Amino acid sequence: MIGLLKSLGVTLKRMLGKPVTVQYPQQHITLSKRNLGFPVLLWDDKINEPACTGCQVCMRYCPTECMTVTMKDNPLAKEGKSTRKKIVDVFDIKMERCILCGICVEVCNFDAILMSDYHEEGDISRGGLIAKREDLFRMGRDFQKRAGIVVGSASDKKEEEA
Ligand code: SF4
Ligand code: SF4
Repeated sequence: MIGLLKSLGVTLKRMLGKPVTVQYPQQHITLSKRNLGFPVLLWDDKINEPACTGCQVCMRYCPTECMTVTMKDNPLAKEGKSTRKKIVDVFDIKMERCILCGICVEVCNFDAILMSDYHEEGDISRGGLIAKREDLFRMGRDFQKRAGIVVGSASDKKEEEA
């Protein structure tokens, strides 16, 4: 009997308390700044080109095989404006298969990909859940701006210290 009253008390408390859920997508919960979201591609503002060379290392290490990456010759390298001889051509991530493990970020030798705080890229079709190169740059550039991330600053610093 006491147990029943106690559980009824919990139910009443919850009924009268403030809801912890919201009507999504009309309403959004403010998440922690440290919230882990999707991987995004970074943009090299110094040269105004992608930081990704399309080397496919991330694709090979991705445990869920959710990435498709190809490269092409970099026209800016031919003009002598970039040291990247190759540049990313196709870069797709099947977001519904990404487990946010961060391995792609760990293995990238060019600091070209980063885990962001993006998490709302839902769609009702499977095709709509594929983040294309342009989507990954859109999210990446916005994330870079908000987080103050400059591509190459870490390697520049290492060179200065050497
Ligand atoms: S994100 Fe990094 S590892 Fe992946 S293809 Fe681009 S440069 Fe290579
Ligand atoms: S976070 Fe993990 S699962 Fe997602 S794309 Fe990167 S390596 Fe693949």
